[in-house]
Amino acid sequence: MFAFDNSYARLAPDMFAEVAPTPVKAPELLALNQELAQELGLSDSEFHSNELLEILSGNRIAKGSQPIAQAYAGHQFGNFVPQLGDGRAHLLGEVIDSNGQRQDIVLKGSGRTPFSRNGDGRAWLGPVLREFLVSEAMHALNVPTTRALAIVATGERVQRETALPGAILTRVATSHLRVGTFQYFAQRGNLDALSALVDMAIERHYPDAEGPLGLLHATVASQAKLIAQWLGLGFIHGVMNTDNCHIGGLTIDYGPCAFMDAFNPEQVYSSIDRMSRYAYQNQPDIAAWNLAQFASSLVPLMGEEKAAIAAATEAVNSFGPLFFRAWIEVFGRKLGIADAKQSDRDLIYGFLNVLAKNRLDFTNSFRDLAVHGRITEAKDTEELDAWYSTWKSRLDGESNPQEIMRGANPAVIPRNHRIEAAIVSAVGGDLAPFAALHTALSSPYETPEDRTLVQPPKPEEVVQATFCG
Ligand code: AMP
Ligand code: MG
Ligand code: MG
Repeated sequence: MFAFDNSYARLAPDMFAEVAPTPVKAPELLALNQELAQELGLSDSEFHSNELLEILSGNRIAKGSQPIAQAYAGHQFGNFVPQLGDGRAHLLGEVIDSNGQRQDIVLKGSGRTPFSRNGDGRAWLGPVLREFLVSEAMHALNVPTTRALAIVATGERVQRETALPGAILTRVATSHLRVGTFQYFAQRGNLDALSALVDMAIERHYPDAEGPLGLLHATVASQAKLIAQWLGLGFIHGVMNTDNCHIGGLTIDYGPCAFMDAFNPEQVYSSIDRMSRYAYQNQPDIAAWNLAQFASSLVPLMGEEKAAIAAATEAVNSFGPLFFRAWIEVFGRKLGIADAKQSDRDLIYGFLNVLAKNRLDFTNSFRDLAVHGRITEAKDTEELDAWYSTWKSRLDGESNPQEIMRGANPAVIPRNHRIEAAIVSAVGGDLAPFAALHTALSSPYETPEDRTLVQPPKPEEVVQATFCG
């Protein structure tokens, strides 16, 4: 079973709450990510053991596990909330995986904690399936992300608008350090806790970084790359609150997230994002804003205040150029250019403008360029023809543009309507669509056998809004 070593639980006691998961009535293993299980040290014979099921349902505390809920704060839609914390998640402990990397093992939906406020501490099956599918898709797409190890049905109902089947996700991540974790202690003036968090973040994510300023620079750089990757996939996180902004640059907290179908830079899906704060094209600015909050939390550790503020500001301001460079690289590769330059910006925008104006499917249009050298769905307009010829001449001298494009433009992404359909089936007891989607998403650059998985939604299938659950 897991060989736990719990460094977070060894931090000062005011940094978390010691609390066990609440047992559930009738746990049933609905999904297990066997490859990940192996990396975490589980043997084949343990995969379907009763012991593992009991641990992942919260019914048994594993040997060496010391369950805790982490304290954190956060800006939610721009408003500071001094105390959030794990309200429905338990960190069971950490294990060193087969790559020598320390990994958190967390149950989500495992019962109330001192941070639950009015929440029930539970999750229903829908968002748990969504997080499993989307986070594993992100991993297969080479985007830094938390992972999904397992889904356990609880055999209990969870009350939302209606009574829904409860479930627990086992989430695995190189840490759960968020901007909000630092904000929680900064606002309390707890410099010991802040400096312990800095050390931990450096150890777990950026072993070469030095001190709080080094950590800040490293986080700015990895967030810049992350957001460029999101944009390159048409991904909209949906709740980029500072408590969902990961210090290691991972995608974390898949709530009302979505991959766009038709390209619209102003797209929003989240039902709670009424001001469109977290629209597709706002994501880089929001990330920079979140990093400014991180910087403010670190300033008290950075020595003389004026100089500290200047250095922190400079680090945050480097986000813009770093993001732009990463964005050029990501979209350059999507057009078959190995090493795109700033001067390729207009070529990239030219194509995105065609997609936006005609509301063309983001994923399929780029994939079409890779496979057919043109968008199969679009009529040949003068504008598009002109763009094709500029593009073709730019590719002169590129050694293998097709191969680059095939590796940068996925055939299959977790489309909203397919996720919704998989959830509806699963609630009805049929996990086959979920399993088929998961399988296809694990090789996203290969055209799946089931061609319907690459099709955009029909008008009546379009998902207009996504929910937190
Ligand atoms: P999220 O929207 O998932 O990022 O969560 C924001 C905050 O609300 C975190 O502190 C969560 O732990 C908490 N939370 C969300 N859902 C629940 C729930 N059902 N019960 C208790 N706390 C919750
Ligand atoms: Mg969150
Ligand atoms: Mg959460």
